[in-house]
Amino acid sequence: MQPLNQIFPLLLQPKRVVITTHQKPDGDAMGSSLGLYNFLLPFGHHITVISPTNWASFLNWMPGTKNVLDYERQTEEADKAIDDADWIFCLDFNTLNRTKRMEEKLGKSTAQLILIDHHQEPQTDKFAYGESDTTKSSTCEMVYDFIVASGHDDKINKSVAECLYAGVMTDTGSFRFPATSGNVHRMVAVLKDKGLDHGPVHEALYDNFLENKFRFLGNVLLNRMEIFYEYNTALIAIPQADLLKYNIKTGDTEGLVNYPLGIQGIKLAAIIIDRGEERKSSFRSKDGFDVNTFARKYFNGGGHFNAAGGQNKETQEEVVAKFIAAMKENKDQLSNYQF
Ligand code: 5GP
Ligand code: MN
Repeated sequence: MQPLNQIFPLLLQPKRVVITTHQKPDGDAMGSSLGLYNFLLPFGHHITVISPTNWASFLNWMPGTKNVLDYERQTEEADKAIDDADWIFCLDFNTLNRTKRMEEKLGKSTAQLILIDHHQEPQTDKFAYGESDTTKSSTCEMVYDFIVASGHDDKINKSVAECLYAGVMTDTGSFRFPATSGNVHRMVAVLKDKGLDHGPVHEALYDNFLENKFRFLGNVLLNRMEIFYEYNTALIAIPQADLLKYNIKTGDTEGLVNYPLGIQGIKLAAIIIDRGEERKSSFRSKDGFDVNTFARKYFNGGGHFNAAGGQNKETQEEVVAKFIAAMKENKDQLSNYQF
């Protein structure tokens, strides 16, 4: 993988560009993709943004969303864009299997794959160019750094600023996680100077839900959360029937895993959701416990030290049992926690 600065001189030659990200894109995935999209537009490139799956409707305000292809629904059009592409930017993921049904197509593509990502253990042999930096708060911060290093920061307009702000805000838990560096705050200051109106972005992402989501949250905290004090661990297990009963859509479960981490003494919080086709898990931890390793070892997943996820094909009961066994296996690390 060559360093990203190798492509700076090539930015000025119009190309056929695909920008893609991980399945079920979150604020950082969609924000970095559309931030880069809005930045690249004035160069005259032909750009197609492809999401491997659908996404949460609360991201639809982002400038450019209406042009994003959903690979599962617009496969033919997306495949053609991939076939024709010179460059494929891969943002906010670093292993091709994070693109679900697009994995095979990306693997066979003759285009140059360009990685910009902040997750651990990248498949660097798959990418022609790229940057992988696990110290970065978000992929949006990395896209911002890319833009500044390319010398074209004059092209950061309000649309670019809004998209990048959305991703850095969500991935830093509203600027509270440890990766929220001085660079992050300096970036936000520049985005403000470029026309960012941060209030509406915050509102679009955090105050934009339907009643059913809050009824569902009440049910989750009352009936689906179990605390294992001996292990400083909390588990939320959600059956598919709950998703149907409360009409839960993509994105409605985001952030749920953080609630039990707010309970005094909890070091590891987990959520296992029966999505029907798979059991999706998310893990969050406080300082000492490495959930990236935990997710990789037991749940076919990965992510960061304090935030990771995975997915399993076994039944919900089996995955819950697997979690409890894994928790017990890690008793030494989980129980020795000092508060
Ligand atoms: P979340 O729990 O919010 O879905 O994801 C937390 C972090 O873990 C994110 O950075 C996400 O990209 C990563 N992650 C979530 N699920 C998976 C997975 O199945 N595989 C890998 N490698 N990473 C994941
Ligand atoms: Mn991210």
